[in-house]
Amino acid sequence: MIIQLHEDTTAEQKAGIAATVTSLGYKITEVKTQQGHYMIGTGKKEFDLRTLGHLPGISDIHRVSDDYKLVSRKWKVERTQIDLGDGVVIGKDSLTIMAGPCSIETEKQVEATIDHLIKNGVRIMRGGVFKPRSSPYAFRGLGVEGLKMWHSIARAKGIKIISEVMQVSQIADMYDFVDVFQVGARNTQNFNLLDELGKVDKPVMIKRGISGTIEELLSSAEYVFSGGNERLLLCERGIRTYEKASRNTMDVNAIPILKEKTHLPVIADPSHGVGLREYVEPIALASVIAGADGIIYETHEKPEEAFSDGQQTLDFQESEVMINKLRRVFDLRESF
Ligand code: PEP
Ligand code: MN
Repeated sequence: MIIQLHEDTTAEQKAGIAATVTSLGYKITEVKTQQGHYMIGTGKKEFDLRTLGHLPGISDIHRVSDDYKLVSRKWKVERTQIDLGDGVVIGKDSLTIMAGPCSIETEKQVEATIDHLIKNGVRIMRGGVFKPRSSPYAFRGLGVEGLKMWHSIARAKGIKIISEVMQVSQIADMYDFVDVFQVGARNTQNFNLLDELGKVDKPVMIKRGISGTIEELLSSAEYVFSGGNERLLLCERGIRTYEKASRNTMDVNAIPILKEKTHLPVIADPSHGVGLREYVEPIALASVIAGADGIIYETHEKPEEAFSDGQQTLDFQESEVMINKLRRVFDLRESF
């Protein structure tokens, strides 16, 4: 159950609401987000909502039975848009394209990527400076110094930045230099990290866990949302299955399912989703048809020289061809 409070609900009124709800066998948690103030009641017993409605301080009450509530469309039917400023808005009636290398490597690489993005009207650049790598001997990123270098070049050119945060201590270090924090597939259930990102006033994109269910992804989003940050994006990036022909199995099914279950924007990552360059484009196009609000993918001037994930990275020519097709397919989808 979600109890929506008035802006000026007093501490005394809240205590009264909490006492009544607790007496009905519910546990109560207070949540303050950028757009509202709520009390979330969790419990099993059914009861008549009218027994609460008269209490002072309540603006509205909603019954929700799932583990996730605030991110669900039962809570909010209207689709959420995420405004990054300077005319960059994710979600609802547009297709957002975010592209860039797996890892930030050099100044020259950043400049070349930004030129490519600007040429193609892409406003958001992806890139990792803290890289989760299966092998400890693989390239693990340039760290915050690399992020500062990237940021100074990107800012000057009006390009927004999305980059992965791997642990709580990195949030403060990265804060001034990112527009969207990315939570990677290996950290989808790092609940400490999610809790801390709930306190941050910058958008967060949560990737689906490597073996995570859709429900687990939504529950992870609920952590951040109920912690106070409702500027969230969800990302399908493929899951691990028994199939060996591709790195991961892109769960295109998840896209319409998520769109039905949540009001948050749904982003698809075909690069990690399939893991092989030659299949990135068809999977990206399929994701748009399936309803994705955005596509995030890896591109590099010379993928064969990339420090990480070169095998799934498009060169700039392939990237340009794909961007044009993505926009055409999106227009087609919108005309249905
Ligand atoms: C990435 O975006 O480069 C990345 C490591 O993604 P994922 O967490 O989906 O593996
Ligand atoms: Mn990668």
